[in-house]
Amino acid sequence: MVCKKCGGSDIQYQTVSESRGTGCLTICLYILLACTVLGLLIVIPLMLRKKTNTVTYAVCQNCGHRWKV
Ligand SMILES: [Zn+2]
Repeated sequence: MVCKKCGGSDIQYQTVSESRGTGCLTICLYILLACTVLGLLIVIPLMLRKKTNTVTYAVCQNCGHRWKV
């Protein structure tokens, strides 16, 4: 693999764990649901659940360009 920006072949890989951001609409929905007793039973487990996904990045050691693999 070579860098798309500078064409260099000095590439290092790094794997990071990213947490997915909660959307504004989701928060509004949570608040709305939390107003009801039944909603609370749905919201609490959702809040406690950690949403993370692992992403591997390739980093060019020559120019610093970073992209997802
Ligand atoms: Zn590069």
